[in-house]
Amino acid sequence: MITFIGAGPGDPELITIKGKKKIDEADVIIYAGSLVNPHVMDGHKPDAKIYDSAYMHLDEVIDVMKKAEDEGKKCVRVHTGDPAIYGAHREQMDRLDELGIDYEVIPGVSSAFGTAAVLKKEYTLPGENQSQTVIFTRMEGRTPMPPGEKLVDLARHRATMVIFLSVGFLNELSKQCIEGGYPPETPVAVVYKATWPDQKIVRGTLADIEQKVKEAGITKTALTVVGNFLEGDYNLSKLYDKNFSTEFRKAVDE
Ligand code: SAH
Repeated sequence: MITFIGAGPGDPELITIKGKKKIDEADVIIYAGSLVNPHVMDGHKPDAKIYDSAYMHLDEVIDVMKKAEDEGKKCVRVHTGDPAIYGAHREQMDRLDELGIDYEVIPGVSSAFGTAAVLKKEYTLPGENQSQTVIFTRMEGRTPMPPGEKLVDLARHRATMVIFLSVGFLNELSKQCIEGGYPPETPVAVVYKATWPDQKIVRGTLADIEQKVKEAGITKTALTVVGNFLEGDYNLSKLYDKNFSTEFRKAVDE
């Protein structure tokens, strides 16, 4: 049995209890050294074998998993954030299926949510100028975007956008957002290494964020979040509105 684990965004206390227990029990650990905080592995067995997948290609990762399985060892594969978001996770699961090796997945706190937490913001707010929709996306890099998913197309919705893997293309990012329909004064935040000790937050607008991020020297490991949830007006929720009844609570008569 191979266990895929979401390690969370950085702070080693943001891994799940279940994920941490599996790491503590593991004989073989494969982790994404470029982004996973090695402290999530504190407490591993002293003789656990540890591999950094940054130096491995897919076949090598699968070979390590297969060998561990053949030897009856417990093997964990530790991904940053949650494996379901830009984790190159599916291709590993498919290979394990082909080999008839069983696996389980323990979710993690995506950096998308680590970022909302450190910004102390909520992505979905009620109100005309707000959005009830969150788009997780990226700019086209070496991985091409499918038709209809260029930022300029997605920007038409004026939803809250959480943009991964793209802090190196902020000029183009802002250009496409504005071209797609966000006003240039739309608030933007760039969060570098959310929840790590060296975290940095840069706030601005589509018009000036590129310059500010350049000045801060941020070139990677950052999320760009776009939308009025960062600053705009919003309506209060109906859920806690004292004039509305819910399944659990009657409206207050005034
Ligand atoms: N599965 C991960 C994302 C992997 S893709 C998750 O759920 O968070 C790698 C990209 O995620 C980075 O380029 C960056 O855009 C973002 N990222 C990962 N950790 C981050 C962090 N602590 N702070 C800000 N962005 C982060």
